[in-house]
Amino acid sequence: MNLQDAIKQAIRDIPDFPKPGIIFKDITPLFYDQKLCTRIVDEFIARLDKKPDAIVGIESRGLLFGFLLANKLDIPFVLVRKAGKLPYKTISHEYDLEYGSAKIEMHEDALQKGWNVIIHDDLLATGGTAEAAGNLVKKLGANVLGFNFVIGLDFLYGEKKLINHSNNITCLVHF
Ligand code: AMP
Repeated sequence: MNLQDAIKQAIRDIPDFPKPGIIFKDITPLFYDQKLCTRIVDEFIARLDKKPDAIVGIESRGLLFGFLLANKLDIPFVLVRKAGKLPYKTISHEYDLEYGSAKIEMHEDALQKGWNVIIHDDLLATGGTAEAAGNLVKKLGANVLGFNFVIGLDFLYGEKKLINHSNNITCLVHF
């Protein structure tokens, strides 16, 4: 089976999670299939125009393939987490949600100036979280080489928010 079909077959739709009206894309069954995980990581690598200096993974599901990808590329992996979770000195960025706001953080020594990084998350919805991660990368003087996601929800037009950072945006499957 081709990779796109294999991913789509494995992902589960969970209606009304975590709140009414949301159809949650559950990627946990992907992790039951280690061969599929290897194909996913290899596909992310095949789609890179050039080797990045680091992968930046977004809490929480962006840490899973993000770390596998960095490790296979033999480059550093950097965590972006919700405010208050990282133990060392952090930089932070606050961004607007549909209702209210959210804050994400990165360790201040995580990236070197001039590095070219790929920002990774499991799913691109409105793009607010990945855009905010791009702002953290820039605060440390590094560059956003591109973004990659397992899933893109095209009807939310998240790509529009990301093109200020980079128009190199990869989603392995689209809904
Ligand atoms: P956004 O900032 O709107 O692009 O939201 C992206 C983040 O929210 C990602 O980390 C996703 O894991 C999560 N997310 C948003 N919508 C969904 C959904 N329908 N199914 C699964 N995860 C979602």
